Amino acid sequence: MNLKKEMYEIEDSLKQEIENISHYIFMNPELGNEEFKSSKYLINVLEKYGFIIEKNYCGMPTAFRGEINKGSGPTIAFLAEYDALPGYGAAKKPGHACGHNWIAASTCGAAIVLSKLINKINGNIVIIGTPAEETTGGKVPMVEKGIFNDIDIVLQMHLEGQNNVACSTLAIDCIKFQFRGKASHASSHPEEGINALDAINLMYAGIGCLRQHITKDARIHGIITYGGAAPNTVPDFTECKFHIRAGKRKYLDELTQKVINIAKGAALMTGTSVSYEKFENSFDELKNLPSLQDIMVKNLKEVGIDNIITSGEGASGSSDIGNVSQICPTMYTEIALDIPEKCFVHDEAFLKYVDSDEAYDKLHKSIKAMCGVALDIFTSDSLLDKIKKEFKNIK
Ligand SMILES: [Zn+2]
Ligand SMILES: [Zn+2]
Repeated sequence: MNLKKEMYEIEDSLKQEIENISHYIFMNPELGNEEFKSSKYLINVLEKYGFIIEKNYCGMPTAFRGEINKGSGPTIAFLAEYDALPGYGAAKKPGHACGHNWIAASTCGAAIVLSKLINKINGNIVIIGTPAEETTGGKVPMVEKGIFNDIDIVLQMHLEGQNNVACSTLAIDCIKFQFRGKASHASSHPEEGINALDAINLMYAGIGCLRQHITKDARIHGIITYGGAAPNTVPDFTECKFHIRAGKRKYLDELTQKVINIAKGAALMTGTSVSYEKFENSFDELKNLPSLQDIMVKNLKEVGIDNIITSGEGASGSSDIGNVSQICPTMYTEIALDIPEKCFVHDEAFLKYVDSDEAYDKLHKSIKAMCGVALDIFTSDSLLDKIKKEFKNIK
């Protein structure tokens, strides 16, 4: 039997196991770096299928690496995510509104399906559990530790509003600013006070002016996390957090420096002092490779997924997979859910679709497409060389 057909049949035979992964993680939503139940469940399933697991991977308690080795051929890694988002429902509980339950099921599912063919492919299958995509970005320290140096190709998919092999994610810096002034009675001795809230107010105004002069892809958005203790006391301490994003890291470095300069200007204007630091890891933009995109499009079409965006349709959010894509050929694909209402990832309304029959249908097709890409690479003498050459040239 043809290898791809055999792979499709293996996937069909594992449908229940794969849907169980999605459902368990959906029902047990955990915030980033607290995904203890989720990572344990995934490890147990992978061990059942013979994966050698390294727990507490890269020093992160909810990270792991699973591997099945068979040959000197390519090493293909699937990156699982399983962190939820805060604040859903009346009780404002965590929920999988970004569909990371589906990412966990699709990546672990693909690794398990391929493991059943390990004796027929001269290659290695790796599954990496990467915590906290929504917050600190667990892939960033992994990249810094060099764990992708022996991996040839990285694959991951994400539910979205469209099928897209040309996703662009923005580079991002996350900066926390703290202003310090001097407290005084706001009515009886205002002349004695140095107002740290005025500094944030002026910083916000300065960023508003900057916005006219930034490139279209850039985004600056923030919140005040502490604005003072009482209206009758001049605030002597305030804090705000900003996300600063742009399509390319090089431009973002300049933009972030401008925002920092605005904060310094606001401090100068008000007589406060300002300190700042990153409160989450910085992400780089996603790097796409045409040769990998072509193989993915072919495999998506083979499983019946059509209407695929294949060239730049603007940027969206940011992801730590961007950092991975800068050092290792990466195919990140968005898969559309066919749903009856207009809602998007992170919307509360999206929650009811990420573990639905429609999500399962796309889950099985996505696994088959990812495994198809892997088989194309495992069984070709030249494909990996071509991808690597392209990766080097684009770099
Ligand atoms: Zn998200
Ligand atoms: Zn997500």
